[in-house]
Amino acid sequence: MDSNGSDVQHTVLNPATEEVVATVPATTAAEVDAAVVRAAAAQRAWSAAAPADRARLLRRFAVAVDEHLEELAQLEVREAGHTLGNARWEAGNVRDLLDYAAGGVERLTGRQIPVPGGLDITLLEPLGVIGVIAPWNFPMPIAAWGTAPALAAGNAVLLKPAETTPLTALRLAELALEAGLPEHLFQVLPGAGDVAGNALVEHPGVAKIVFTGSTRVGKQIMAKCADRVKRLTLELGGKSPNIVFADSDLEAAAAATPMSFLDNSGQDCCARTRILVERSVYDRFLALVAPAITSVVVGDPSDEKTQMGPLISKSQLERVRSYVPADSEAIRGTAPTGPGFWFPPTLLTAEAPDSPAATEEIFGPVAVVLPFDDEADAVRLANATEYGLSGSLWTRDVGRALRVSQAVRAGNLSVNSHSSVRYWTPFGGYRQSGLGRELGPDALTAFTETKNVFISTEA
Ligand code: NAD
Repeated sequence: MDSNGSDVQHTVLNPATEEVVATVPATTAAEVDAAVVRAAAAQRAWSAAAPADRARLLRRFAVAVDEHLEELAQLEVREAGHTLGNARWEAGNVRDLLDYAAGGVERLTGRQIPVPGGLDITLLEPLGVIGVIAPWNFPMPIAAWGTAPALAAGNAVLLKPAETTPLTALRLAELALEAGLPEHLFQVLPGAGDVAGNALVEHPGVAKIVFTGSTRVGKQIMAKCADRVKRLTLELGGKSPNIVFADSDLEAAAAATPMSFLDNSGQDCCARTRILVERSVYDRFLALVAPAITSVVVGDPSDEKTQMGPLISKSQLERVRSYVPADSEAIRGTAPTGPGFWFPPTLLTAEAPDSPAATEEIFGPVAVVLPFDDEADAVRLANATEYGLSGSLWTRDVGRALRVSQAVRAGNLSVNSHSSVRYWTPFGGYRQSGLGRELGPDALTAFTETKNVFISTEA
């Protein structure tokens, strides 16, 4: 590739078959520049439009996504290897986010603060052009988490999808236009991270970067944003605990465990990949969880019965393999052989708590199980990582549920459940899992600047 990325195409492979799905031109730095200029002009008109009109157009965009839900889902199955059920949920999540954000346009209000000698009000002003840089693991939802509230708050959005998964993002941009969103307000710029992504980060006309991806790249982007005092949200990696206490409904905890780290083939920043089990029920838990793991259906993602598909790429497969030597003690499921990037469900049963598999984000269908002695030990182990994104705890003791929820340093916890993400509740990480929050009731505010205005009544 030349340094500007010109004449470069990205080949999109079906990870289940290794067949070519499409080739997509890579956006150059000069093309990013032109896109920023067009987006800035579109943003000025958009922010001046009546709130009800902006809300209506976003609702129409949501309807267009809904009408093409099956097409988007099938496209995600082909480009990302997601199971059909997951892909349908993901397209539905985009629709719901657009609807939710549309409801916020007319509710995005400032405050009136009591002051002597006048009136004090705050104005929430759009930032301008927002750069959203998305990863490949949930291409549609993560693109929409930034895009929907940013548009609703009066901004323009330039979305840089991951190299391996640009197709659903490109289709969403077409649907936005068909729904009547102004031209250039939402543009998708496929291309290389260090070319198109970097051009967004460095561009003075981009007011904020919303980055979801690896902690390594997130740190580089943060340093560049610091130089420019550019606004920034980081949603990074995770190594989340699933804490199972002896007083829990052990059958329920074991039954829920496989998909808590196997969903999306473990390529989920919230995957519960450190299973911490109270020592007194450790053996019983393993006996319950083993058949649940080996019976997970792994195969053709377009088959409705499939629970787990392939990994995204050959390099991801090699990365996952490197954590699981052939002689590792593990409970192993099955996976197809032949073409495609397949790895079986794997629960490592004899890892040291400080081993790479127990501390590093693998981003594949691999978890470790570790025993703990008491509540304090469970909290210590849960926090023994540089990450802090998600976590679950299983107990019937309400006091313990609250104590442990307060003690675990992570942004998204669930008790007797593994759910992490709802578009109407806040989401984000502690420590090296990220910076800032997305989704939830304050999502639009994160795309505004607060201006304070004092009006004297004494003049
Ligand atoms: P990645 O960091 O390699 O890439 C993410 C995006 O950044 C891609 O679009 C890529 O092209 C772009 N990029 C790469 N280098 C860049 C640069 N120098 N400048 C600007 N952009 C650049 O991550 P990935 O491998 O695509 O995604 C997997 C990672 O994402 C995992 O670590 C996972 O935990 C994390 N993730 C986090 C969340 C969350 O919400 N916390 C959600 C999903 C994924």
